[in-house]
Amino acid sequence: MSAKAPLGVAPAEEGAGTPGQQAVLGQMVEDAAVWCAVHGLVVGDRANQRSGTVPGVGLVHAPFSLLPARFPASFFNQACELAPIFNELVDRVSLDGEFLQAALSRQVLNSIHWILLVNSGLSFSNFRTKQVDEFTSRLLEIHDKMMSINKKEDIRLGLHRSDYMLDSETNSLLQIELNTIASSFPGLGSLVSELHRTLLKQYGKVLGLDPKRIPQNWAATQFAEALGRAWAEYNNDSAVVLMVVQPEERNMYDQYCLVNHLKESYGVATIRKTLAQVEAQGQVLTDGTLVVDGRTVAVVYFRAGYAPTDYPSEAEWRARLLMEQSSAVKCPSIAYHLVGTKKIQQELAKPNVLERFLDNKDDIAKLRKSFAGLWSLDNEEIVRSAIQKPNLFVLKPQREGGGNNIYGQDLQDTLIKLQKEQGEALAAYILMQRIFPKASLTPLVRGGDCFEDLTISELGIYGAYLRNRDKVILNNQSGYLMRTKVSSSNEGGVAAGFAVLDSVLLT
Ligand code: ADP
Ligand code: MG
Ligand code: MG
Repeated sequence: MSAKAPLGVAPAEEGAGTPGQQAVLGQMVEDAAVWCAVHGLVVGDRANQRSGTVPGVGLVHAPFSLLPARFPASFFNQACELAPIFNELVDRVSLDGEFLQAALSRQVLNSIHWILLVNSGLSFSNFRTKQVDEFTSRLLEIHDKMMSINKKEDIRLGLHRSDYMLDSETNSLLQIELNTIASSFPGLGSLVSELHRTLLKQYGKVLGLDPKRIPQNWAATQFAEALGRAWAEYNNDSAVVLMVVQPEERNMYDQYCLVNHLKESYGVATIRKTLAQVEAQGQVLTDGTLVVDGRTVAVVYFRAGYAPTDYPSEAEWRARLLMEQSSAVKCPSIAYHLVGTKKIQQELAKPNVLERFLDNKDDIAKLRKSFAGLWSLDNEEIVRSAIQKPNLFVLKPQREGGGNNIYGQDLQDTLIKLQKEQGEALAAYILMQRIFPKASLTPLVRGGDCFEDLTISELGIYGAYLRNRDKVILNNQSGYLMRTKVSSSNEGGVAAGFAVLDSVLLT
């Protein structure tokens, strides 16, 4: 993040407030940093090598915005209303294995192979030609295996986060993406809302900001509740929740928030293991029970496994397959994971596709209204437009975790290069309409220092979904996360170092 004017230097007329308000902001920075330390709004400090592996060592406050981001209540409510509909959609799409295979295999198959394949009824993975996206292809392979043994998941748990930006050009709320795996910051996100409310209770009068306009945010307790209730559905009192984590995780306190709620409110124990540890210590018994390190696992909660770097060797892939084959509840299952890919987002935005999965016309209209322009790269006209006006588009590979998208000049160069190659590589990407949120001056706090910068914000709405066969046990909007980044940065991840955590001030 490029931090420019230290707080107090920016001229008041640019929005930094009166000198009195400036002094208040200075005091607030200190109060806020103390609040973070006392309440666990912290992450591992990069400066300390052990901070990603040893809890309680090398902590620093999470980067945050000093004041909540203004957001129109109507758009906030619109986003909240979409959560249960997206939850339902993910579940429905996950049951259509052929749809997932078809949409994602097209990335690795040309159309003639595709027709052969459909007509032959043979296993999809057998026909894969040159693989343009090895990672997605490996995920598909696991999914294909589950299809071929007709694996059914009776208990299905989704902990999603649907992200949106307000497009200033069209004055509309548009979805950036839907995360179905490792949706991060339910823990720290709830804490930021608390932090802002606390600050505004003390300083809100001077600043003219009402703390009651910050919506309640129970993301951590609601996600813990969903995990706890999935555990209960599994119905084995001695079983645990397995949290699959990366070997180094600076965002571990966000995860521990959930672990603590699970323990305190539901008496459920959590074990944390990396994929490599699951491979070394895990087995599936003949009845399907997953046992890891001697403990029966009721629920596998993935906070890793979404990026190619999470699978440095075959061992990690074996672990993923092992868990998928078991009877444990997977959050997400391989099918839920695939529904959250950008390729599927683009397929769902095509005409008449939502209608295949949802019955309610109003629900369909609401979802569609939130879809930005999304295209696959076999649409030559769009590719041409994107080459002509690269700033109106974002080029996205099938990746998660931030830092992967291609913009501007790079987008133009990449498209020209891919076009020249005329190969299948085009299929590894999607094109998306670029969304332009209105920028505003915001004080951001990182590493104890406060800087003011022009920022834009992205609203994430959490959704929790749990069902057991025909019974929908939970289908909720489950809190929110605002992330704010300097407007000159293209990417948005907090963990990736582009954004800060924020909350919402309804206007
Ligand atoms: P990831 O799964 O890596 O988080 P995203 O689709 O969320 O991928 O893209 C990463 C970031 O890029 C977003 O947080 C947002 O800041 C920015 N971004 C993504 N899509 C768009 C878009 N259509 N318009 C503007 N910015 C976008
Ligand atoms: Mg994502
Ligand atoms: Mg994202």
